[in-house]
Parts: sequence; C-alpha cells; structure tokens
Amino acid sequence: MRVPVATKSHQYEVVLGHNFLANAVKSFEDKLQKADKLIVFTDVNVWAAQGDYFKANFPYEFEVFILPSGEACKTFEQYNAAQTFLLQKKCSRKSFVFAFGGGAVGDLTGFVAATFMRGVPFIQIPTTILAHDSAVGGKTAINHPLGKNMIGAFYQPEGVIYDTVFIESLPEREVRSGTAEVIKHAMISNAAWLEELMAADTVIHFSTEELAIQLRKGIEVKAQIVAEDETEQSVRKFLNLGHTYGHAIEAAAGYGKVAHGEAVMIGLVYCLLLSERYGELDRQFTKSFLHFAVKNGYPFEAVNNYTFEQLTEYLMKDKKAEYGILQFVLLDKIGKPFIQPIDLVECKEVDAEFRQLLA
Ligand code: NAD
Ligand code: ZN
Repeated sequence: MRVPVATKSHQYEVVLGHNFLANAVKSFEDKLQKADKLIVFTDVNVWAAQGDYFKANFPYEFEVFILPSGEACKTFEQYNAAQTFLLQKKCSRKSFVFAFGGGAVGDLTGFVAATFMRGVPFIQIPTTILAHDSAVGGKTAINHPLGKNMIGAFYQPEGVIYDTVFIESLPEREVRSGTAEVIKHAMISNAAWLEELMAADTVIHFSTEELAIQLRKGIEVKAQIVAEDETEQSVRKFLNLGHTYGHAIEAAAGYGKVAHGEAVMIGLVYCLLLSERYGELDRQFTKSFLHFAVKNGYPFEAVNNYTFEQLTEYLMKDKKAEYGILQFVLLDKIGKPFIQPIDLVECKEVDAEFRQLLA
C-alpha cells in the first residue's frame, strides 16, 4: 500500500507492507545510490527486538548508532552524540540517514538530519503504531529541560517505510498507546470509522491485516491534513485533539510513566466532556466512549493521582496557552473538529465533571 504525502516543501510516499523491508528500501535505490554513506539511528529496545530482521533484510551497507529508548533519546546529549557520530564517520551532505524506531527515535533522527550540515535526506522506518502519526508530516524535535519538543524543525523525510513485522514485538502498552492516535484520527475525520472501532471487541489485538487497514486510514488522515497545512497554521491544529489535557497528565506523571497515547486517550475523553458544551455531542456518547476506552485498558486511574491544580501548571505550558486561555480542539460532532478558547475556570469545572464520571 502506498499513501502519497504532498506538502508544500516536499512530496513523498508512505509505503506500507508486511515482511517487505528489502524491497521497500530498494524502491529508494535512485536516491540511495547517490549517497556516500547510509546511517541508521535506532534505540536499544528496537535493535534488540528487530535488529536481526533489519540486518538480514536491509539491502545495503550501513553504520548503526544505537540510542537509549524513549524520551531519553530526545536530549541535547543524544543529539550531540548523534552529530558527533556522523562527523566521526566522515558523513557529508551526500549521506543518508534512517530513523528506525518509534516516535522518539524518529523525532531525534529527523532533527539530527535537519541540522547536520544544514540538512541531509532521511527516511523514517517506524516500528510503533504511534509512529503512523509521528513519522508522517515532518515535525522533528528534541526536548528542553523546560519543555517537551521545544527545540525542533519542520523537516520532511524522503519517504516512510512501514513494515508491520516490526509491530509484532511491540509491548501491549505501546500498542494501546499508538492505537489512541488511530482513534484520534477517526474522531477528527470520520464518524463511521469511529463507530466501527467502538463496535470492535478490542482495538488492541488487531490482526496484522486489520492493523494495516487501520494504519493506512490514519496515515491518510494525517497526510491530507499536513498537505493542506504543513506548518500548523490552520487545520493541522486539529491533530492536537486530546493533547492539551493529555500532555498535562503525561507531564505530571513524569514522561514514560503514562505512555503518550494513553495520556492522549484520557485527554480525548476530557475533550468530549468539553465538546458537550459547545457542539452536538452529548453525555451519553461520552459515556459510551469512556466505556470503550476502559474496556481496552486505558489507565484512567492516572487522573486521580493529580489534583487539577497540579495539572494546571502543565496545562499552562502548552505552546498554545496565552493569558490563562487555552486553545482546545473540540468536536462539533465526530469528524467536525474546531478550535475553542477555554479559560481555566471552565477547564476546572470540566475536570471536576471528569473526576465524577470516573468515580
Ligand atoms: P517510543 O519511540 O518511545 O517507543 C516506545 C517504546 O517502545 C520504547 O521503549 C521503544 O524502545 C519501544 N519500541 C519501539 N518499537 C518497538 C518494537 N517494534 N518492538 C519492541 N519495542 C519497541 O514511543 P512512540 O510512542 O513511538 O513515540 C512517542 C514519541 O513520539 C514522543 O516523543 C512524542 O513526542 C513523539 N511524537 C511525535 C510526533 C510528530 O509529529 N513528530 C507526533 C506524535 C508523537
Ligand atoms: Zn500525539
């Protein structure tokens, strides 16, 4: 399967398949032949779980740099170490970089590629479900001690190779986390698709074939949005559905304690409660969505670990927050997102409703 991504700055494809790494990489032969070196960035878990398959199937010579896993790779230290590696290997502007891992490896590698000698081409080889979102669209970043993803660039890859073999070793928590972004893509785009997901017995044990279908749909939504708005001036903001409250939970817990997508799922329910006040959705729908999320094991107990006041500190760190007003993505109905400024007083009221609903 191929999904084209046509942003203003760059056009490329996401190729999606099973057990097809060798052919998929070879399909970039034209570009790779011109490269003087191929460098693969990965993380320690991905390399342990999938390094053998990667080495057996990657059709060209390459050098590998193994990062720590998770947010630990999105630091200035690892950014520096990665650049040092490229320099020590005598890479040039003709070198080609691969990001082999989840969103964290993708974000770090993309930023390294964007800035090494003012930019070298890179390909994303995602290994998580979440990365159907993060590997497409060209947002790259590392974290600053004062905030997540604060240092970065918009830098599009030359392509994305999504081999679903990699998903087979993904821990269940990461499957759950990434699936939340699939659900988010359904919520902002397509009521029938969300209905289908909510009707499934489970969304975290999809067959490989079913998963590929869901990933493709999610990638299509992302591709369409970034084609329209590469640098988040308008519709790209809709991809932040669930992320304002979700990020606060993720940050309050300490990154890695509640996985990104798990926190986003919590944020999606919070946004449904807020949406009831502004659009057509009602409490009955919010309750059925919450039931669906709980059934799939999303950790709503995390909400009660923090007071609203504790979350406020992180809510106000949101890049979109100004003068005590937050810019929330809400839903008029499923598939119809819009931006709504919400003040902290209302945030607190809805937070209290949320806690009652969870009690
Ligand atoms: P991740 O990259 O941290 O991976 C999650 C965990 O799973 C890690 O421990 C990793 O080592 C392990 N793992 C990954 N693939 C595996 C595999 N196939 N088998 C076994 N273990 C595997 O997390 P993620 O959820 O993929 O991505 C989260 C990151 O993505 C965050 O840093 C977030 O900020 C970023 N993000 C970026 C964008 C974007 O547009 N750039 C969008 C959403 C999220
Ligand atoms: Zn996200």
